[in-house]
Amino acid sequence: MNLDTIVFNDITVGRMLFWVAVVVAIFMLPKMVPKLYKLIFGKKKVNLQHTVYFACSNCGWEGHISKFGTRCPKCDAPAGDLDT
Ligand SMILES: [Zn+2]
Repeated sequence: MNLDTIVFNDITVGRMLFWVAVVVAIFMLPKMVPKLYKLIFGKKKVNLQHTVYFACSNCGWEGHISKFGTRCPKCDAPAGDLDT
């Protein structure tokens, strides 16, 4: 189907699809906003919950690493003593 096909008057298929997409977007938006909000702000919270403070005894690196990560991100030394 050619997008330049005129449906009626001067409205083409392409223009009609654009407005259909706009209308769908308007109806989807209230449902999408909380999801997007969770995606942007919720992820950080989850990551913080799964990180622990860690000070490397090998290279002195300090910071938060994953609770499930067992290695120093700087020198790759095994993070045996996780300071929670
Ligand atoms: Zn280290």
